[in-house]
Amino acid sequence: MSAGDLLLRVEGLRISIPTDDGVAQILDHVDLRIPRGRIVGVVGESGCGKSTLARAVLGILPRAARVDAGRIVFEGEDLLALDQRELTRRIRGKEIGFIPQDPFLALNPTFKVGTQLLEIMRWHAPDGGDGGGGRRGAHRARLLDLLRAVQIADPEAALDRYPHQFSGGQRQRLLIAGALACRPRLVIADEPTTALDVTTQLQILRLLRDLANRFGLSMLFVTHDFGVVAQLCDDVMVMYAGQSVEGGGTAEILERPRHPYTQLLLACHPDRAQDLAGIPGTVASPLAPPPGCRFHPRCPSARPDCAVARPATVVDAGGHAVGCVLYHAGAVPAARPS
Ligand code: SF4
Repeated sequence: MSAGDLLLRVEGLRISIPTDDGVAQILDHVDLRIPRGRIVGVVGESGCGKSTLARAVLGILPRAARVDAGRIVFEGEDLLALDQRELTRRIRGKEIGFIPQDPFLALNPTFKVGTQLLEIMRWHAPDGGDGGGGRRGAHRARLLDLLRAVQIADPEAALDRYPHQFSGGQRQRLLIAGALACRPRLVIADEPTTALDVTTQLQILRLLRDLANRFGLSMLFVTHDFGVVAQLCDDVMVMYAGQSVEGGGTAEILERPRHPYTQLLLACHPDRAQDLAGIPGTVASPLAPPPGCRFHPRCPSARPDCAVARPATVVDAGGHAVGCVLYHAGAVPAARPS
């Protein structure tokens, strides 16, 4: 794949946050690639750093966070080199849209839905997005189109209603419309279906897939659920304790997982698990991460050299990437857990 086919490239990203108990090493050499028009899932257990990665791309890290190394290249431009003013003016909410996790918290209960969504459009496209006059009309017409696209019934009336007058699923549809309001090229969705019931979750996932196809969007979809990845994502990157450990096409990863963590994560998914044993041990603390491969204290295939250095990532001809010594030249991969 040529660099021109990639919309977003995260390379060797390291982020730490000083705390009263020491420096938390949240991300450690994370790599991610989002090709144009693809939905890429970032999957891992709670606390693995996937939401921090999403926030780093958006430029909304906690004030104390430090970027120790790496690059976030969007359309050929390193976002880490931009100041907050420039990010707000040109990128965040405009080129990169955001769908938050909780539709019950993300909308202001004191303002009508139309007021809130139109404000986003006025902020990022003061000329109405059509290069000239009639901005109010242009914004309103685009918003009504978007509300139809996200399947909100009676869009005209919806603009005059308050958030509490919508169900959770409808509110998430409104937030999706807000994320698309300024015609972004990339949409970041941070567990947007976690707060919804299973039926509504499925509807939202189908809607996101339809919208991505219709508008030619790329999407970074953060989730802890491999079932969601299987339903929605073209590609997936697996994270463990702040490290990217495996990535590639979703079908390939689901059928032929290579990293021991991915294999165990899939083996204990409710759709596949034969028992509820889970993965032994606990996720490493970012305050004291194990040296080398951070999974080594829990890995059934660990060898002495796993604790020495972070394993290099090897990528096969099909783009399947894995960071594990078992796949280094001359190594014999371990058997996959049943
Ligand atoms: Fe297990 Fe070693 Fe591979 Fe890490 S590098 S996943 S500890 S075998």
